[in-house]
Amino acid sequence: MSATLELTQDLMSRRSVTPADEGCQQVIAQRLAAVGFQIEHLRYGTVDNLWAKHGTESPVFCFAGHTDVVPTGPLEEWRTDPFKPEVRDGFLYGRGAADMKSGLAAMVTATEEFVRAPPNHRGSIAYLITSDEEGPSVDGTKRVVETLVQRRERIDYCLVGEPSSEKNIGDTIKIGRRGSLSGRLTVHGIQGHIAYPQLAENPVHTFAPALAELVSRVWDQGNEHFQPTTFQISNFNAGTGAPNVIPGELKARFNLRYSPVQTLDGLKKVVEDILRKHNVRYTLEWYVSGEPFYTSRGALSEAVSQAVAEVAGSPPKFSTGGGTSDGRFIAPMGAQIVELGVINATIHKVNESVSTADVDALHRMYYGVLKRLLA
Ligand SMILES: [Zn+2]
Repeated sequence: MSATLELTQDLMSRRSVTPADEGCQQVIAQRLAAVGFQIEHLRYGTVDNLWAKHGTESPVFCFAGHTDVVPTGPLEEWRTDPFKPEVRDGFLYGRGAADMKSGLAAMVTATEEFVRAPPNHRGSIAYLITSDEEGPSVDGTKRVVETLVQRRERIDYCLVGEPSSEKNIGDTIKIGRRGSLSGRLTVHGIQGHIAYPQLAENPVHTFAPALAELVSRVWDQGNEHFQPTTFQISNFNAGTGAPNVIPGELKARFNLRYSPVQTLDGLKKVVEDILRKHNVRYTLEWYVSGEPFYTSRGALSEAVSQAVAEVAGSPPKFSTGGGTSDGRFIAPMGAQIVELGVINATIHKVNESVSTADVDALHRMYYGVLKRLLA
């Protein structure tokens, strides 16, 4: 068994359900310290973070990722214990196999190999690892980046090891992500007897035409790198439970996944203009979970693309699809960001798995990126 698979299994056997780290970062830190890294453990609240660095020169190349995993879900649906990693028919099963303990292991073993090989590399290699990516993401990467910015540390190239691949290892890398804007809406009405609607004001009825306009609206066409902006209702509640009462209010939650074609203020204005146009009486709280970011073609995306092609036989597709990632916190530092990891088909599911061959392929891809940027 390869060193990368062994380390993956060691990390997977630790029950690091978010925000727990369960010693994963200690294991990584020990391995990195042994090849000369400076180690810093940054604990904020209940969250463990690791910042490690090898070298002091520019450019700074940083591996980023997380040690926490999502809960297992119903244990009876797992064929094996989610925290007892098991290899079966060329696949490694267990929670975190794909998201993203194999990615962490591949970073560490690629780094060990690269740092040990003479001559000394140029620039610096850094690690930014958190145990709060699957949770609220408040005391994780975001806080570490704040600390780094205060210290005037910089990151030039950041490779996030999230599972980016779709059908084959390395077929897709992420070069950006859409933004995510959520709203918590309350529509105010007047409760009343359903037989006397003239004495009440039904918030479902006043909201209905506004909702129709919001869901049918073409927000934009996206651009060559981003899908069009989308609007989705995630939660919708009204009614007292009684069949003869007009509800007094309606509560809805919605989310916009938006491309850089849009601005936050612009989106908020459109939504509120539509509500006002339809005379909806409302209260609305906005939440921004991430602004969009995008890395234009440059040294990092070229190095990653070539490293993938060398191992996989063909270069990856560049994508900005999928949910947000911690890249959103690192992008404002001015870093180029690319996400490259294993196949994401089973992440967050029961019987999460990764192909053992893919784990070793990812190790070689990461090594190829280091070689191209820092040798
Ligand atoms: Zn992840």
